Amino acid sequence: MTTQPTTFNTDLPKRRPMPDLLSGQKALVTGANSGIGRAVAIGLARAGAEVAVNYVVGEEAAQKVVAEIEAEGGRAHAVYADVSSEDDVKTMMASAIETMGTIDILVPNAGLQRDAAAVDMTLEQWNKVISVNLTGQFLCIREAVKEFNRRGVRTDVSVAAGKVICMSSVHEVIAWAGHINYAASKGGVHMMMQSLAQELAPQRIRVNAIGPGAIRTPINTQAWNTEAAYADLMRLVPYKRIGEPEDIANAAVFLASDMADYINGITLFVDGGMTCYPGFATGG
Ligand code: NAD
Repeated sequence: MTTQPTTFNTDLPKRRPMPDLLSGQKALVTGANSGIGRAVAIGLARAGAEVAVNYVVGEEAAQKVVAEIEAEGGRAHAVYADVSSEDDVKTMMASAIETMGTIDILVPNAGLQRDAAAVDMTLEQWNKVISVNLTGQFLCIREAVKEFNRRGVRTDVSVAAGKVICMSSVHEVIAWAGHINYAASKGGVHMMMQSLAQELAPQRIRVNAIGPGAIRTPINTQAWNTEAAYADLMRLVPYKRIGEPEDIANAAVFLASDMADYINGITLFVDGGMTCYPGFATGG
């Protein structure tokens, strides 16, 4: 049985995998003061990108991420926006572009859950999740694409004009009773991502997604913070360990880099095999 860590691993290993992979590039990560977004911001910075760290609440936590990046010799800036507000997103993008000069990489990552049985779900719960998880990604992507198109390919840093990496979920394909708003939002992200990939490819803009499985963050604490919960979770994970935010950061660095230049319109599942439906491992 896997030993069960019951606290957050906020101390990301000081590994600098390929410092030149993204050097000279400018990135914006939404919801970057916590969990996966924080790890992605740090991972992109370790690969050489300058990063705008978006937050909606918790400015202090965002400044802490900035400080962590700067302590490792990177460059970062905290930037406020509620991603579900059109005005906020426009202001955030303008400010990030003014501060960094441009933007090459967008990771629309901000997301939340408002769980309820379908019959009890309020319209507010439904709308909140769709407006942050799906509409929020659309708003950020639209503004970033305007900048990619205005500027074109910066041949000194990348062969593409822009890279978008949507944070989806295994629940873009795995149904999730009790979470219909969340599953619908991620299913929506999937088709939005693929349609964008088709639409924007001629402009040399690549659009992909990451589909995390169970990753140790505040969004799902109750799924891993006791021995019993962790054991239960492992029934869904063939690889028999929970994912760490850095697992997602590594995938984001790869997808943002020119190593992934011929990859467009995919969801890269980073899930220890959860999408292999382990319930069927002994069936059939
Ligand atoms: P988290 O709660 O640690 O982080 C979510 C972030 O989004 C926070 O920084 C939060 O402040 C921010 N956010 C929420 N509403 C916002 C808004 N209106 N505007 C701007 N920012 C906002 O959770 P996490 O696990 O790091 O989640 C990050 C993303 O990964 C989400 O899209 C989530 O759906 C996805 N995801 C997570 C898991 C997992 O197991 N943790 C699995 C699949 C997908």
